[in-house]
Amino acid sequence: MPYKAEYLWLDGSTPSARLRSKTKIVENGESPPIWGFDGSSTQQAAGDNSDVVLSPVLSVPDPIRGGSNVLVMTETLLTDMKPHPTNTRAACAASSEKYGDFDTWFGIEQEYTFFDGAAPLGWPPDGFPAPQGDYYCGVGADVIFGRDIVEAHMDACLEAGLHIAGINAEVMPGQWEFQIGPVGTPRVADELWIARWLLGRIAEDYGVTASFAAKPVQGDWNGAGAHTNFSTKQMRSGYDACVAAAEALGKNAAEHIANYGAGIEDRLTGRHETASYKEFSYGVSDRGASVRIPWQVARDKKGYIEDRRPNANVDPYVATRLIIDTVCGDASK
Ligand code: ADP
Ligand code: MN
Ligand code: MN
Ligand code: MN
Repeated sequence: MPYKAEYLWLDGSTPSARLRSKTKIVENGESPPIWGFDGSSTQQAAGDNSDVVLSPVLSVPDPIRGGSNVLVMTETLLTDMKPHPTNTRAACAASSEKYGDFDTWFGIEQEYTFFDGAAPLGWPPDGFPAPQGDYYCGVGADVIFGRDIVEAHMDACLEAGLHIAGINAEVMPGQWEFQIGPVGTPRVADELWIARWLLGRIAEDYGVTASFAAKPVQGDWNGAGAHTNFSTKQMRSGYDACVAAAEALGKNAAEHIANYGAGIEDRLTGRHETASYKEFSYGVSDRGASVRIPWQVARDKKGYIEDRRPNANVDPYVATRLIIDTVCGDASK
C-alpha cells in the first residue's frame, strides 16, 4: 500500500518564517522524492515564476497518522537546485561542516504560549489571572492549563524519534517549554521545526493555538524564549573553552541580537529573568545574564554554556549557525 508523506517547509513570512505542509502519496518501497509547491502563495515567488522546490532533509515516523506514514522536513531550493533566498538551513549546514572538528552540539529550550482565541489558555476572557509565582512547574487546575496537549505532544515527539529531552510548565500561566537535544547541527534545528509543527498540529485538535511570540502579553508577564545550550568537543573536555565561548559571544553581541527573533527588544528588558539586549554579560548560575554557565559546568570544569537571548520565535538554523561562526571562528584565530 502507498504511504502518506507530509512535507514540511519554512515559508517566506516576515519577520518570522512560518511552517507550511502538504501531503504526497508515495509508492510502497520508494523514499519521498524531491517535490515542489506554489511559492506565490507563501511569499517565496512571483506568480509568473512560481515553482519552488522541496528537497527532503530528514524523514521521521508520522506519529499523527501512524503506520508507515512519515513527516518529511525539507529545505527549499530554486529550480536550478541552489538554495532559495529564504532557505536558512543551507548556511547552517555549511558552517557546521566548516567547523566539523569542533563537533558542535545544541540543546534548545523551546518556550511557547497556548492561546484560546485572543487570550492565553486558562486566562479569564476579560482581565488577568493571579500574578506570576505559582505557575512554573505547578500542579492543579488552578495553575495548569493545557497539560493534555503537552503530554500528547511529548508522546508524539518520542514516537517520531526526535531528541526531546523534557517538558515543563512555565512562569506565565498557559506558557510551557519543551527541550530538543543535545544533538548536532543542522539536525537539532530540523528536529525543532518538526516538533514545532507537531505542537501546532496536535493543538489544532483541541481548538487551541501554540504561539511562539516573544512577548505574548505586555506588562509584568514573562516573555517566551528559546535558550540555546551549546558545546564544542573542546568545551566538553575543559572549562577554559567554555569561558572562551562566552567571551567570544560578547564580542559579537549586536549581530546575535539582530538575528535572535522578532520583537527581541520587548523581551530582553533586563526584567523577567532576562538581561537587557543593550548589554552583554555572562556568569555562573546567573539567570539575569545574557549567557549562563550552569553551576555543574563550573564544578566539573567542563560542559556547555546557555545562550539565554534567542526568542521563542527564533529560526534555529540562524541561531545555531551564528553561534558556531562566532565561537568556532574566534577559537580558530
Ligand atoms: P534550564 O535549567 O535552563 O531550564 P533545561 O534542562 O531546560 O535547562 O535545558 C538544558 C538543555 O541543555 C537540555 O535540554 C540539553 O538539551 C542541553 N544540554 C545538555 N548538555 C549539553 C551539551 N553538552 N551541549 C549542548 N547542550 C546540552
Ligand atoms: Mn528549561
Ligand atoms: Mn524556560
Ligand atoms: Mn534555560
